[in-house]
Amino acid sequence: MTRQVKSPNGAVRRFGCRQRCYTNENLTISGIILFARRVGMFKVRREKVVAMLELDPYKPLPNPGETALIEIRPSVAVIGGGLSGMIAARLLAERGYPVTVFDKGRQPGGRGSIRVEDPYTFDHGCQYFTARDRRFQRYVEAWIEQGIVSLWNARRASCLRGAVNLVHDDVTRYVGVPGMNAMVRHLASGMDVRSGLEITDSRRVPGGWQLTGTKPIPELFDLLISSAPAPQTANVLRTTRLAEEAAKVNMLPCWTAMAVFDYDLELPFDAAHISASPLVWAANNGSKPGRSRHECWVMQASPSWSIEHIDDAPDAVAEALLAAFFEAAGAAPVTPRFTRSHRWRYASPEEPLRAECLWDAEEWVGACGDWCHSARMEGAFISGLTLVERVLNDRPRAPEFCR
Ligand SMILES: Cc1cc2nc3c(=O)[nH]c(=O)nc-3n(C[C@H](O)[C@H](O)[C@H](O)COP(=O)(O)OP(=O)(O)OC[C@H]3O[C@@H](n4cnc5c(N)ncnc54)[C@H](O)[C@@H]3O)c2cc1C
Repeated sequence: MTRQVKSPNGAVRRFGCRQRCYTNENLTISGIILFARRVGMFKVRREKVVAMLELDPYKPLPNPGETALIEIRPSVAVIGGGLSGMIAARLLAERGYPVTVFDKGRQPGGRGSIRVEDPYTFDHGCQYFTARDRRFQRYVEAWIEQGIVSLWNARRASCLRGAVNLVHDDVTRYVGVPGMNAMVRHLASGMDVRSGLEITDSRRVPGGWQLTGTKPIPELFDLLISSAPAPQTANVLRTTRLAEEAAKVNMLPCWTAMAVFDYDLELPFDAAHISASPLVWAANNGSKPGRSRHECWVMQASPSWSIEHIDDAPDAVAEALLAAFFEAAGAAPVTPRFTRSHRWRYASPEEPLRAECLWDAEEWVGACGDWCHSARMEGAFISGLTLVERVLNDRPRAPEFCR
């Protein structure tokens, strides 16, 4: 079906598909290709052959105007500036796509953010990460070389009601330097990132995706990606077919307490897995490379305790988790210099989709995040990367996307 619209200069344009291949002809080659795609002629090939992206962790962003002369690329909006959204945004921007990232936080970083309580900092979300996938390893190696990631050789223990056992394994654990947000900050440099802006709605209108947020967003976007946690993606993409899939994923909360001590607690471990307690994990942030050597402890509650206490006052939570920490570590309680607590409402997916990412090639809308792949940093990275592979495989570019 061909529709007619008046362009701003008054000229009548016809377009025969939602991808807006503007043309003065009723039927063009691009129209034929799109029709063929609709009826599924290319479906098998598109589903089976997803080109692997050539990855170069050192690839710079193109100079402004560099790609505009070659072809017009579709504009992209990415909701969420955690690791999944930011790697997707970066990979597209490196290939000349004009990308804008929207994040409701004060800074991008998501669950890999840090909490600053001057002069102290805490990795109050993600504690460390591992890298088993070769593609992620390539980035991690580059980040180590660039000084923004380092190994964390923590003294580790398991704690059960005061019984402390030191544990050893061969797992290589990495942390961002000087905080867990270092990788996202690095990926975000030079990019158009609008922080402190929550997206509340998205709609496909003639001309592209229209976003509504807590601040005005005047422009339309050709392609929309949400990397927000599953329930938030289900909400912002509620007019799309992806919302139903995202809504299937339940995300569990995590209450986190932070405490600074004036004294060395003289514990035999830097990090501990904790059982039979409100807590599941505690770590001394000061034991990580690139941080100040203060005893800055982060204590994370189990999903069940967090659900049970979801609406408790932050001070009461900090007090309860601190008591649980000393009990688990078998140490005499010490009054901290100060405590804080943070409620992660959507800390981890209970059961990720194991779908890598979601992508609707007809509507040009996708979703990525740890909830698509697996509940960790590496899963978020792979999800964002895979989504970009899907997008590029469908090659959304001129003439289909003459803007
Ligand atoms: C307490 C805790 C401990 C963890 N420990 C580890 C660990 O030790 N190792 C590990 O590998 N992983 C760990 N994880 C998991 C890891 O942090 C996540 O898997 C990863 O950070 C997810 O990245 P993401 O990009 O998928 O999502 P996120 O990092 O959550 O990014 C989503 C972004 O979307 C933004 N957003 C949401 N809604 C909107 C909206 N409507 N408009 C605009 N922006 C929006 C958010 O502000 C956020 O920045 C931990 C997580 C938590 C919470």
